Amino acid sequence: MTSVPQFAYVTLVTNADYAMGATALANSLRRTGTDAAIVILHTGGVDAATLAPLDALGCRLVEVEHLPLSDAFNERHARGNLHSEAPFTKGRKPAFHSPLDNFCKLRLWQLVEYERCVFIDADAIALKNVDKLFAYPEFSAAPNVYESLVDFRRMNSGVFVARPSQETFRKMLAVLDQPDIFWRRTDQTFLETFFPDWHGLPVYFNMLQYVWFTMPALWDWESISILHYQYEKPWEKDHPKAARLQPLIDLWHCFHIGGHVPEIASLANPDEAA
Ligand code: UDP
Ligand code: MN
Repeated sequence: MTSVPQFAYVTLVTNADYAMGATALANSLRRTGTDAAIVILHTGGVDAATLAPLDALGCRLVEVEHLPLSDAFNERHARGNLHSEAPFTKGRKPAFHSPLDNFCKLRLWQLVEYERCVFIDADAIALKNVDKLFAYPEFSAAPNVYESLVDFRRMNSGVFVARPSQETFRKMLAVLDQPDIFWRRTDQTFLETFFPDWHGLPVYFNMLQYVWFTMPALWDWESISILHYQYEKPWEKDHPKAARLQPLIDLWHCFHIGGHVPEIASLANPDEAA
């Protein structure tokens, strides 16, 4: 009898760009030797050919609907409105990023066939086996660190540990859509509010790419479990920070192609790089 996985890595893909990201992520997870399932939540916006590489990697493709949210909620969180109400001043979101899509992450709580899920953004790669995260309690996430020490107070929703439950999902929907509510950083602000006593994971479980140049002393290839390309994506053609992030972009492409990947621990840290 083949064993049924109780644990799953879950990501979200609502368009072809994030399918590319998820392919690199799935390749990276496979390389860690995990036995957990890899689940791709995808919306109708992605065609079968785009998802084929993920299927070939043995991922479980689960089609999901957008959440049943009010028109007013959707309008408030539409890209144009969100960018003017809560501008991004530290980095730039690519044109293919739709903030409203982020809320589909909450569909993870409906995957009740799994005991625990580790959600990972499609713009991240695992550099080590992170199966130990399945033993962490709900809700665990790493801090949103990419500029300075005060960032350790905030949470980043690119990596988190959760326990699927229809009841939790229902409660979330009730809290999510209320008259005039505005979640300025979408699912991240919502999850931080819904789980005010979130458990902090070490920062190396969600190392944000900007740390490479903003806080180089914190960078340590040997310690990083998950590398997360927040803001600009490594596959973007017009990437304003490409020159500064080149070693990280090159590494992502190795995972995306699925070929040779250099020994991570032997990569040069920023203070050693020429
Ligand atoms: N996402 C998606 N389509 C979108 C926006 C987001 O599939 O239009 C998913 C994808 O998994 C992505 C995650 O939601 O990695 C969060 O968005 P993103 O990583 O771009 O945000 P950032 O990390 O830059 O804050
Ligand atoms: Mn991300």
